[in-house]
Amino acid sequence: MVSVSSQDFIYKTFHDFYDSDSFFSPSITRFVQREIGFFLLKNRIMIRHKRFQTIEELTFFLKKNVPSDVYRSCAYYEYPEAEMAEKEWLGSDLVFDIDADHISNSCDKIHDKWICVICGFEGKGVTPEECPLCRSKKFNNKTWPCESCLDSAKEETKKLISLLEVDFGFSHNDLHTFFSGHRGYHVHVEHSAIETLDTLARKEITDFVTGLGVTLLNNKKTNSYYASNLGTFGWQKRLNLGLQKFLSSAKKEDLKKVGIKRNYDAILNNKEKILNQCIMQGRWDSIKGLGTKTWEKLFQYIKTIESSQIDTVVTTDIHRLIRMNNTLHGKTGFKKVEFPVKHIDSFDPFTEAVAFNGGIVKVCVSDAPLFRIGENMFGPYKNQVVDLSTAAAVLLICKERAELVKQKDV
Ligand SMILES: [Zn+2]
Ligand SMILES: [Zn+2]
Repeated sequence: MVSVSSQDFIYKTFHDFYDSDSFFSPSITRFVQREIGFFLLKNRIMIRHKRFQTIEELTFFLKKNVPSDVYRSCAYYEYPEAEMAEKEWLGSDLVFDIDADHISNSCDKIHDKWICVICGFEGKGVTPEECPLCRSKKFNNKTWPCESCLDSAKEETKKLISLLEVDFGFSHNDLHTFFSGHRGYHVHVEHSAIETLDTLARKEITDFVTGLGVTLLNNKKTNSYYASNLGTFGWQKRLNLGLQKFLSSAKKEDLKKVGIKRNYDAILNNKEKILNQCIMQGRWDSIKGLGTKTWEKLFQYIKTIESSQIDTVVTTDIHRLIRMNNTLHGKTGFKKVEFPVKHIDSFDPFTEAVAFNGGIVKVCVSDAPLFRIGENMFGPYKNQVVDLSTAAAVLLICKERAELVKQKDV
């Protein structure tokens, strides 16, 4: 929890954002049928079950109440303002959330920190199951919207888009892609084919996207593989192309990554044969030294590469509230922003999601890694007073890594 003066600074900065031309009203289909929710900065309370007739009405509310976070339902209802049971669900967009928290990255140890709520013991990297000192399972986590983590999330998003387009047949126009404002990306599908799908049907979709249940053993009893070659669509095609791509350039180190410990030569010396006999003709047991277990490892690895690491809970929840486009993220002060699907490669969250331009703010930073906003690099900082741009100061205060330095303290 940051100091009162830091909180006041964030409140004023967020208020001014919603009160200025920097805030572009989001266009949301079926807006009046959506449930709107807020987390308020002042009392730190959640307000749900709100309905607004116009965007102007919503903007007025944002200026007056200054939320740290603004949400809208993926669903649309007859009565969005009613209690959950009385809302009368009409349908829901198909929504995907890709968050760096669900993707392991080597930089976790550099910028992520956990602190035991009970005894205060702390460590870096992935949060342990229980505190090594007092065995408590409650932690405060400090994560960071890091470039390399966000790049990984973007790669997962691109795979998701490919799955949605190639295997489900959605077009660019059906998909809306967003930077979440923190550590990930959102993909919304708006299409009549999915709007009334229930939770179970959505679970089938997440299973497909994550490759759950993709298996290559055709007959578990005889341990035989698909009798024929891999098919030309869906997961069979993805495994086929993925295997070809991987094996054609594979070196010993790559095979080690797959978990293959011996028999490297059976693969490295027979690439042509493997391609023609195994992958093209489906004669999976035709290479000496390349047996069931090795194939299993190879397929598992290719499946991981080809699938997308989405947060499945978000997609299957047909009442989910999701951050509203163009509003501020309370953990960063960045905006959730939409960008065209075809521009995903060049999209830069640290430029396009920046909400505050100009200004200089004096803050005392406890701990921050090296980071970039626009063209400017900041940090790393450790227990030091620095003058920062408003966007950088807001980010560090929201991440509880800095405090505002009041003028009289200087
Ligand atoms: Zn502890
Ligand atoms: Zn990272």
